Amino acid sequence: MEKSENPFVRSMVCIMCPASCRLEVSKGANGEYLVSGNNCQGGKNYALNEMRDPKRIVTAVVRSDSKIVPCIPVKTDFPLKMTLIDDLLSELFSMKVTVPVHCGDVLLRDYRGTGVSVLATRSVEK
Ligand code: SF4
Repeated sequence: MEKSENPFVRSMVCIMCPASCRLEVSKGANGEYLVSGNNCQGGKNYALNEMRDPKRIVTAVVRSDSKIVPCIPVKTDFPLKMTLIDDLLSELFSMKVTVPVHCGDVLLRDYRGTGVSVLATRSVEK
């Protein structure tokens, strides 16, 4: 008898709502992803996005020329493809911004044409 291939791919916890459903992803006969353990369509979409094109909100700090607040916290306005996060962090760590900076100011716009920008998350006066 031929051994069947294990269709299990990955387990994960859905972070789309506080129910925190445990999801399991396996592969169907045609190579498609099958999701189980979800209690709604949102959980299925979350799992499929995690498998096909995972994205994350990125938080970091950038240097400033302020003598009082030398590092300004920042975050992306939308989730960024995980494959681009290391490059974005390298760029942010090499930046130095001039104060004043206001919470919500765009410090890096439309990173690599993704439509994702980096915003300051606190204000720093001169
Ligand atoms: S699968 Fe649906 S119900 Fe479960 S955690 Fe995700 S969003 Fe919430």
